[in-house]
Amino acid sequence: MRILSGMRPTGRLHIGHLSVLKNWVRLQEENDCFYFISDWHALTTAYDDTSELKENIRSMLLDWLGAGLDPERSTIFVQSHVKEHAELHLLFSMITPLSWLERVPTYKDQIQQLGKEGKDISTYGFLGYPLLMTADILIYRADGVPVGEDQLPHLEFCREVARRFNYLYKTELFPEPQALLAEVAMLPGVDGRKMSKSYHNDIPMSASPEEVFEKVRMMVTDPARIHKTDPGHPEICLVHRYHEIYNGEEVEETRVSCRGGRIGCVACKKRLAEKINAFLEPVRERRAYWTARPNYLEEILTAGAAKARAAARQTMAMVREAMGV
Ligand code: SF4
Repeated sequence: MRILSGMRPTGRLHIGHLSVLKNWVRLQEENDCFYFISDWHALTTAYDDTSELKENIRSMLLDWLGAGLDPERSTIFVQSHVKEHAELHLLFSMITPLSWLERVPTYKDQIQQLGKEGKDISTYGFLGYPLLMTADILIYRADGVPVGEDQLPHLEFCREVARRFNYLYKTELFPEPQALLAEVAMLPGVDGRKMSKSYHNDIPMSASPEEVFEKVRMMVTDPARIHKTDPGHPEICLVHRYHEIYNGEEVEETRVSCRGGRIGCVACKKRLAEKINAFLEPVRERRAYWTARPNYLEEILTAGAAKARAAARQTMAMVREAMGV
């Protein structure tokens, strides 16, 4: 099965992304996986400041390799290194009704949301980004796309474009890619809001052990608990939520001790930080290995782009023939 997925390079990834990446790692065992860093997509919202783009690409690649993506198994590349994505996007733009793009649920929401933050994204590029995403997927004629529930409308849009192309040019060139929905643990940030680098409430995948301790120390707990002997309410405590994910073997004991006032929040957080650090240790080791080999990083992206380009060119030859251009 050919699988395609990508991420925008918007800064260092956090442990919430790690469950997505673990799924990618699992998929690469038995599939032909193409994973790309979508730098053009980053421009749809961050077109006015590209100063960190190159560093963000490097950092994302390191995070991916740290998570266990294997360049021998997966094709790893940068979107803008394969220009054929842009050509297919252009050709699709000729056949896609404007109304299809305007009704994508995230379009108006994001314009409003980012507008509140003072960002003007009422651009041609932002309106068209689901179509660029469609080109990203269909150019590899992917069978499956790992997505979260929130991305299902984008994939349905992609399937509609594939159907329209096939119908207009009487071809079966494009398969309709299937959604590969995975169980992904939704982690709140250390302040209880959505985890995000911009809120400074994230735990980066590349965090040092000290940084993890500091982030866990900041986590909000049961506000009614003043003294160590006060009975706690783990069900409303963020630390406990994290214990459920990172400390499965001790979570029941922690819950009971908290309710019985037999463990203090400081000790409970220390226990959690140790577990997160143990979980991140292999990620750190792999990241350090690749950080020390910058030439290899270049080689991975060059080889990935060459392989992706060969597949994209095959598709584009068929697209041009089908369209008669
Ligand atoms: Fe939360 Fe642990 Fe404190 Fe209980 S002991 S309130 S679970 S941090």
